[in-house]
Amino acid sequence: MESDGQNSADSFKRKIWKTKLHRRLKLHLWRIASDLLPTKDQTSRYVHIPDLSCPFCGFDSTSTLHLFTQCHIARALWYRSQLSIRLDNLQLSSTSQLIEMLLDPPNVMQFDKENKVKFLLFGALCIDCIWMWRNKVVHEGLLPSEVQKSRSFHKLVQEHWRLIKSSLPMDSWRSLSRWLKPRYNSFKLNCDAAVGLSYSSIAVVVRDWRGKLVFAHSKKENTNVTLQAEADAIILALNIATKLNASHFVIESDSKICIDSIRAPGDQVPWRLLSFVSAVNSIFVELGSVSFSWVYQSQMVL
Ligand SMILES: [Zn+2]
Repeated sequence: MESDGQNSADSFKRKIWKTKLHRRLKLHLWRIASDLLPTKDQTSRYVHIPDLSCPFCGFDSTSTLHLFTQCHIARALWYRSQLSIRLDNLQLSSTSQLIEMLLDPPNVMQFDKENKVKFLLFGALCIDCIWMWRNKVVHEGLLPSEVQKSRSFHKLVQEHWRLIKSSLPMDSWRSLSRWLKPRYNSFKLNCDAAVGLSYSSIAVVVRDWRGKLVFAHSKKENTNVTLQAEADAIILALNIATKLNASHFVIESDSKICIDSIRAPGDQVPWRLLSFVSAVNSIFVELGSVSFSWVYQSQMVL
């Protein structure tokens, strides 16, 4: 018979698979929670490892918890979160406790639903990055520079958040808080693209001149190129518009290059967007009146 401790350990590990994280991150968290990460201290159980010190700071520690939460590299990364995460105050004693806390943050953190998702994502990416950098040091003797680390981490967070955001209910889109109504008897179609590691999700939300949600649609695209996904989202919006009845349509996207290329004279369209602009023009003629607008979408910072 399994003990209660075993049952709760299994139930929190099951929780990992139910999150909206990328599969690779889930697997990584699960390996840590199951003590299956090939760290020096784990490996030293089976083979003799002459040097058990931390690969980043040389601290004489065999603890994986040091690597992920206490080392100066880890601290610097966790510190970047705008959620005011202070791991020191939480008195973690194991890495599985760290994962458990990411999945179920203590009440003292006072996170709402969205911040809980952000916290889990941020933590999972912190751990993932630290592990990648640690492997670079251990296997290649290379530690990325501060700038590279900061840039690559920031980019990762952005990409993953966009992907998660696209799977959240449309009403939770932050962009809608800056949303302006179109003119009377018009529809506004907001496009969004969330680029993942192997595919993207594109989405279109249609609202009428009163701001009422008329239609929302999202689909998967086999591209991990941001520009392609953004262009596909605009084409999707135009195709949706052909099926709707309104005197005027506004297509709104945060892809400046796509919107600029639609407005540009034919000979100034970037070659990469030629087929996109020609597709826009062919759908354009089916629609009575359309305008395209670029909207600045502030970067999502966790
Ligand atoms: Zn260290």
